Amino acid sequence: MTRTPIIAGNWKMNLLRADVAAYAEAMAAAGPPDAPVDVVLFPTPVYLGLAATAMPDWTAVGAQDVHAEESGAYTGDVAAAQIVDAGASWALAGHSERRQYHGESNDDVARKARRTLGAGLIPVVCVGETLEQRKRDETETVLDAQLGAVLEVLAAADGAGAGAVVAYEPVWAIGTGLSASPEIAASVHGHLRARLNGHQAGLGDSTRILYGGSVNAENCRDLIGRADIDGFLIGGASLDPSSFLRIIRLSTGSAGGS
Ligand code: PEP
Repeated sequence: MTRTPIIAGNWKMNLLRADVAAYAEAMAAAGPPDAPVDVVLFPTPVYLGLAATAMPDWTAVGAQDVHAEESGAYTGDVAAAQIVDAGASWALAGHSERRQYHGESNDDVARKARRTLGAGLIPVVCVGETLEQRKRDETETVLDAQLGAVLEVLAAADGAGAGAVVAYEPVWAIGTGLSASPEIAASVHGHLRARLNGHQAGLGDSTRILYGGSVNAENCRDLIGRADIDGFLIGGASLDPSSFLRIIRLSTGSAGGS
């Protein structure tokens, strides 16, 4: 089955208004890649509307987090409908920084992913083990629990629009400069895909599984060369548009976007 690759940039709590505008100009000047790829940027919520308006139409914009409830007294949080209203079409759920700093449980992540999907957004569910868990040989147990909590949502998304997306982001590789080797990443992706297929026939074959964790222009080709790696969720190397565009070009073999 052919799965369209995804190259996504998670800006986290970085960049100001002028940076977002300059980024959009750089993307527009580069032009669309001449290979099939979904390019998605995840700004902070305050700039979602700006990014959605300013970015060229061959890109999409997504939210870094969505509240699990539809609306109400949740000061500081953002509802899925507001994210859609701001012009976004994707949303992350369960990024490890949300799990770590906001105490989000597997159940919270599943509720957020369900709300995201219900609002018509494409959920990108992040899973990944810590270094301690990997050292204790608990990687598959941890991933199975994280993935198990969202299987129903992933199955519900299957066959509807772009489906849902899984991002394997080992916590020890995020922001450390220590990317997982292509072998480690491919083996985990294979495990996740098998789990998805085990839950529902074909779910693993259709669900796009991204790798995230210190992806850069040097390592992206080796990683995406593996059959089970469908693209990237990129933090640090997505903050500069020329670096992000270079990764798009190298990963897709596209001549566009320099
Ligand atoms: C991330 O936070 O999603 C991420 C992958 O960050 P980095 O690329 O900086 O490791």
